[in-house]
Amino acid sequence: MSIKVCINGQLFDKEDAKISVFDHGLLYGDGVFEGMRSYSGRVFQLQQHLDRLWESARAIHLEIPGSKQQMATAVNETLAANQLTDGYIRLIVTRGSGTLGLDPNRCSDPQVIIIADKIALYPPENYEQGLELVTASTIRNHPAALSPRIKSLNYLNNILAKLEGLRAGCVEALMLNHKGEVAECTGDNIFIVRRGVLMTPPIDAGILEGITRNVVLELAQQNSIAISEIPFTRHDIFVADECFLTGSAAEVIPVVKLDGRPIGAGVPGKVTNQLIEAFKKLVHGG
Ligand code: PMP
Repeated sequence: MSIKVCINGQLFDKEDAKISVFDHGLLYGDGVFEGMRSYSGRVFQLQQHLDRLWESARAIHLEIPGSKQQMATAVNETLAANQLTDGYIRLIVTRGSGTLGLDPNRCSDPQVIIIADKIALYPPENYEQGLELVTASTIRNHPAALSPRIKSLNYLNNILAKLEGLRAGCVEALMLNHKGEVAECTGDNIFIVRRGVLMTPPIDAGILEGITRNVVLELAQQNSIAISEIPFTRHDIFVADECFLTGSAAEVIPVVKLDGRPIGAGVPGKVTNQLIEAFKKLVHGG
């Protein structure tokens, strides 16, 4: 069965799901997106993802056609059309087709695209044994250039960082901010545990306010784990007891090595495993 893609409320076979080559989403990365998962037929944190999509759009002066309720319905219809109960959903809103100049005011037809498919971001063994990271020389966007809080279609600096990771044999790379502090990874937020305290960079470190990040902070609170949203450096990861990443696609995944240094005992840590279990229980409704 061909994958069905929803464009502007209409379902198309993957082969026929097309938009204009004059779309500024393609020409300039002018647009916004979301990535989310559905578990047992329910889209996890759907409202939060829709809120963030609308906030990203507002920040780039893009009006999303239709309401959040209509978008939610279209997401569920796309999942159903693909007979998916457990899958990954990509929501994209482009500026629409315009002329060969930057001017977004000359684009009048924003395209709303919904793709539902399976995703396996990292190899399954990494979830058991943990990931190895390298620090990329490409830094996260300077917030005054393009705020990392906007989930825009402009991911080129993250892609350059990802290429650095892949060249070093790692499936993820750590990105620092313009001050040299830890920001996040190319597609995930980062956490460390030191002396029993769970730490993650604050939003103003120049990161995406990850929805999984917020869920994990809440789970930590419920499990009486001390939390601190505080800036830290690569050194803090070297001397941490544990490290892990969070993301809608990645879920919660342990990190056991950074730039060749084993983190803690070099195996997924106790707090990490506790939070992975709590996360699984939450999403699978256990
Ligand atoms: N940081 C970046 C750069 C991302 O692209 C993502 C999403 N893939 C995340 C963090 C994680 O965010 P979320 O938990 O909302 O998926």
